[in-house]
Amino acid sequence: VLELTGIRKSFGATPVLRGIDLELAEHEVVALIGPSGSGKSTLLRTINLLEPIDDGRILLRGEDISDPRVAVDRVRARFGVVFQHFNLFPHLSVLDNVTLAARKVHRVPRARAEERGLELLDRIGLAEKAREHPDRLSGGQQQRVAIARALHTDPEVLLLDEITSALDPLLVGDVLELVRELAAEGTTILMATHEMAFARDVAHRVVFLDGGVIVEQGPAAALFANPREPATREYLRRFS
Ligand code: ATP
Ligand code: MG
Repeated sequence: VLELTGIRKSFGATPVLRGIDLELAEHEVVALIGPSGSGKSTLLRTINLLEPIDDGRILLRGEDISDPRVAVDRVRARFGVVFQHFNLFPHLSVLDNVTLAARKVHRVPRARAEERGLELLDRIGLAEKAREHPDRLSGGQQQRVAIARALHTDPEVLLLDEITSALDPLLVGDVLELVRELAAEGTTILMATHEMAFARDVAHRVVFLDGGVIVEQGPAAALFANPREPATREYLRRFS
């Protein structure tokens, strides 16, 4: 689905992505792991065209979305994105948050958008909160709503950036369970995470990023059981 080649990105004089090659197949779940500052968030943001790249190419189903002539909004609409800090609109109801992109960007009529929105809220167990404002929900519930919102437009790829790291540990489980279900259903997911157990259980492939380069990658079970590179070993040791 997604093919990155030679992605380079600097902030000022500081190189942050130093030649990233990465492919994501249909229905594949890939976890990006690596130390703080290794470039995980920047990489996710470049894919969604939130961050311009200096060099390289990003193909989404064969279309070069890194071409500067591309219509950015149309490309972004093909991704579902959830970040660490829930970015729900506080002044909108939960249901309006979930349906906003479908209505405004995809021009789905309100009734149809709300029908689908309620289905999604029902699935995450929050249908009864549809008319509430986000501040009436727990952090974990808000993050599940953010995921429901990302799913509403049937994205081709779901980009998740540390979606549990701002949560109370007690609330992490429900959010991870939802991602686990989506993965099992065949959703294509690229996620940055510090949750190693989760990466090991859910991701098909794990990519270890360090200093803006992919140091090592492989099937989750193999990479965790048998990291080849010293940097990967050193990093994983801290979580065991
Ligand atoms: P974490 O695990 O802490 O989320 P990360 O792997 O997501 O880290 P990034 O957020 O991608 O790391 O940051 C990579 C590097 O780029 C860091 O050194 C960071 O300071 C720098 N950086 C990120 N965004 C910007 C920006 N907008 N301007 C300048 N520097 C930035
Ligand atoms: Mg990050």
